[in-house]
Amino acid sequence: MFTLGITGGIGSGKTVVSTLLEAHGIPVYNSDVRAKELMLSDSIKTKIMALLGNQSYENNVLNKRFISEKVFGNEALLAQLNAIVHPEVQNDFLDWKKNQTSKIVGKEAAILFESGSYKQCDAVVLVTADEDIRLSRVMQRDGLTRDRILERMRNQWSEKKKIEHADYVLYNNGSLVELEQKVHNLISELNNR
Ligand code: ATP
Repeated sequence: MFTLGITGGIGSGKTVVSTLLEAHGIPVYNSDVRAKELMLSDSIKTKIMALLGNQSYENNVLNKRFISEKVFGNEALLAQLNAIVHPEVQNDFLDWKKNQTSKIVGKEAAILFESGSYKQCDAVVLVTADEDIRLSRVMQRDGLTRDRILERMRNQWSEKKKIEHADYVLYNNGSLVELEQKVHNLISELNNR
């Protein structure tokens, strides 16, 4: 079974790409969504509260704002948080993969390179678009301010560095129809490899 990693910065269009892959019969594991679910399990919850404090959860709901403010700019603390969450996500992905029957599966993660989980992939596709386009798409999608999005972008690798590490790059500056065609071409390439 071939594992395709799907990554890209905030607002690049990676979730749209995953949806298109799924429409073509390639199941995709969404690491970011699963990480948030796993962070509600008792074992992880206990470890996170011990590291960052009880305020990390409010009525069993992850206090994302508190956690991101706590780790923002504190690389050591962020590394400790990642050391709690990432191994659990990696094991969970392996469990999920065991239940799949397709030739190719996808693993989507915003920080696939940064977390080291690209090592679980046979190839990685990076979805990228110019910063101003990504900013306007996210402002429209989430109603966040420009500064808040830029702050989140600064926590991720630069596009240049990610392009250097990727096996395939999908430039998503154009329309959704163009993106769909690019995904189609990528699938053909993967099937012919
Ligand atoms: P994040 O990491 O922030 O979740 P993402 O990389 O998963 O972002 P998407 O959610 O797939 O990005 O796309 C961001 C927004 O831009 C979405 O609202 C999506 O519908 C829109 N979008 C993506 N690609 C295009 C495109 N080519 N044309 C128009 N809108 C697009």
